[in-house]
Amino acid sequence: MSAQLTFAAPRRAKPPRHLADLSPDERREAVAALDEKPFRADQLSRHYFGRLVDDPADMTDLPAAVRDRLVAELMPSLLTSVRDQVCDEGMTRKTLWKAFDGTLIESVLMRYPDRVTMCVSSQAGCGMNCPFCATGQAGLTRNLSTAEIVEQVVAGARALARGQIPGGAGRVSNIVFMGMGEPLASFNNVVRAIHRFSDPSPAGLGISQRNITVSTVGLVPAIGRLTDLDLKVRLAVSLHAPDDELRDELVPINTRWKVAEVLDAAWAYADRTRRRVSIEYALIRDINDQAWRADLLGRLIKGHPVHVNLIPLNPTPGSKWTASRPTVQTEFVRHLEAHGVPVTVRDTRGQEIDGACGQLAAMPQETPLRSQQG
Ligand code: SAH
Repeated sequence: MSAQLTFAAPRRAKPPRHLADLSPDERREAVAALDEKPFRADQLSRHYFGRLVDDPADMTDLPAAVRDRLVAELMPSLLTSVRDQVCDEGMTRKTLWKAFDGTLIESVLMRYPDRVTMCVSSQAGCGMNCPFCATGQAGLTRNLSTAEIVEQVVAGARALARGQIPGGAGRVSNIVFMGMGEPLASFNNVVRAIHRFSDPSPAGLGISQRNITVSTVGLVPAIGRLTDLDLKVRLAVSLHAPDDELRDELVPINTRWKVAEVLDAAWAYADRTRRRVSIEYALIRDINDQAWRADLLGRLIKGHPVHVNLIPLNPTPGSKWTASRPTVQTEFVRHLEAHGVPVTVRDTRGQEIDGACGQLAAMPQETPLRSQQG
């Protein structure tokens, strides 16, 4: 298979600047540059990150004229909800967003008894071209700005705080960069977003870095850069095959950075951060689900701080591939466990609204049959 890999995002108009693009210091500078008192920046932060205000009329501590100006300059509307789809009795909600330039992206909120996880997009589309992933099929449109990434979570946090998700008022506790896009291909915006998520409220959302997962195809130099930042986020590596021959096909960037290099980078990350690395492995019937591949994977990773997350493949439209047979999946788990490797099988929330892993493709024309539309 020839690997058509896009690294640089296409040149496009930039999304408008937003408070969430900026660090607390940069916010004060931006406000000062508008000839306002720097403490106004903290007020804006408190409204956006702390109180989750979206209507400027609620910012009553800001004089009306100042408010209008600062909101126009620093809190432009970035994402407009085009459609919500819900399933699992409302506990899973996928939102299709339209950005300032018409670009479409998706995010998913998943409420569990003990946590709320938001799955966010880091890019519109994706350039990694993995043949089993819906997002990969259309290629990369552009990177999302930091604030466009943050806004997906803030919108979910607002809905939860206002009791719009069944189960009562709540908070976002976990974030996974497992929506559209390859987060490490938009490194700086993603790292800035991590800071906005984890900075204590009201500078940020106050979500622990330990509850944030960055999932990557394995861009080795970028994993190294992330390691050097000494963050506490969890790293997930989308491996999907333990051998280069098959991985070259399933994750085409493997033609550039091989399994061994990706795993070495992952161990270095684990070493530095003292955090277990998660290996993502979508089980694809008769493609990568053989017991011998489980054994090979087990041999490669045993003894390392690792956890394997098996994902039953979510078939994408037109794909010839499907999920493994249940008995084969059980065998795969058994073979891995025989090496002493911790394994879990990911639940497949949101399947019926195409909101499950790898299904985010932002097709506005699709009309779901079984889900509610908002
Ligand atoms: N680009 C990043 C993050 C986005 S995808 C990455 O590749 O890790 C999040 C996870 O969903 C990845 O492990 C990805 O391989 C997996 N995935 C993609 N398509 C899938 C599908 N159709 N079924 C199951 N998992 C899929």
